[in-house]
Amino acid sequence: MKECPNLEKCKFLQNFSNEKCAEALILLYCRDDFEKCARYKIRSEGKMPPDNLWPNGEMV
Ligand code: SF4
Repeated sequence: MKECPNLEKCKFLQNFSNEKCAEALILLYCRDDFEKCARYKIRSEGKMPPDNLWPNGEMV
């Protein structure tokens, strides 16, 4: 299974104190499809995404 290289340090996921919620988001965004994540794309350009940027590109 593929996994995002930013998984351990991702600030987006650290915002979720609820473990079940974070696990669901990881399954949805951070495994096989992580290359589609808006945060991952910014990180791969060498920049830091804002903390409130969701993987789907929305700012919340
Ligand atoms: S939210 Fe995006 S950048 Fe963060 S760990 Fe998941 S796939 Fe990687």
